[in-house]
Amino acid sequence: MITNNITDLIGNTPLIKLNYPSEISGCEIYGKAEFLNPAGSIKDRTALGIILDAEEKNLIEPGGTVVEGTFGNTGIGLALVCNAKNYNLKVVMPNITVPSKRDILKNMGAELHLVDAKPYSDPGNYQRVSQKLALELEKETGKKTFWAGQFENLANYKFHEKTTAKEIFDQTNGKVDGFTCAIGTGGTLTGVSVGLKSFNKNILIACTDSQGSSMYNYFTNGTPEKKGDESITEGIGQARVTKNLENCTVDQSFYVSDNECMEILYKLIKTDGLFLGLSSGVNICGAIKLAKEMGPGKKIVTILCDDANKYYDKMFNKEFLQSKNLPIPDWI
Ligand code: PMP
Repeated sequence: MITNNITDLIGNTPLIKLNYPSEISGCEIYGKAEFLNPAGSIKDRTALGIILDAEEKNLIEPGGTVVEGTFGNTGIGLALVCNAKNYNLKVVMPNITVPSKRDILKNMGAELHLVDAKPYSDPGNYQRVSQKLALELEKETGKKTFWAGQFENLANYKFHEKTTAKEIFDQTNGKVDGFTCAIGTGGTLTGVSVGLKSFNKNILIACTDSQGSSMYNYFTNGTPEKKGDESITEGIGQARVTKNLENCTVDQSFYVSDNECMEILYKLIKTDGLFLGLSSGVNICGAIKLAKEMGPGKKIVTILCDDANKYYDKMFNKEFLQSKNLPIPDWI
């Protein structure tokens, strides 16, 4: 394969059969290998989708600046896309993310602004700071400055509808019975659910919510109310209905604790050779719960969002795991 631009390598990821989860559930469970995207996560798609949309709408110009608030992966995806397309990137990130994400962003040449972690209602929240920064920069420089706004920008879910959903349907020869994943912006779940339902409305869609998030309660009783303690996972968990979530309908919801998430991640390293990041553990637990609910023989798909390399400070740090009362793999 020869390609003229690294952005051509975003998407078209393989589906991997998850052997241990399939065995224990009696279903065929598949993970979409988003960790194989060139900047390492599902958010490469979001970054590309948002930038292509901005180019089409003439919201951005060569040599111009993109600003975004991110937990890390969208920033890393944007860094790759912006570098490849000659845009500058400024990223606002909460200071509670793993340090490796900051290093990657700095080393890729993005300008990084770290802020304290604050709820969305607080003007100091990273998403709100990033929007303000974009407005100020445009005023200051008189040049077009594009705020990516992944939570509210509908280009996010639409790119998943166009690419991720279509790929899943085609890769399963239209035989997918159920899909589930967790929510950060909601772009993946909304896009895949809208896309799959347009092909076949009987495909079951489930939200798998992480500990400390409000989406399980939102989808089961209509109120976005937090369930469980703060999670150690990153990039997922949501307390409000983002614009990307307004178009999301799910048939079912599952709740996954950090304990369940870590158990499956360590298990899959040894059973399947998969070295996956935190949110993938939540997704796989959700897929197993959906499989058990649907009964044996079904084909279920979830997302393997990124790999474990960025999360050593949490996943393979004995003291950290002990302090959170989480399982510790016996090889560390
Ligand atoms: N997993 C990881 C590792 C992420 O970085 C994100 C995005 N923040 C998600 C899952 C959630 O994806 P989405 O924003 O499409 O809901």
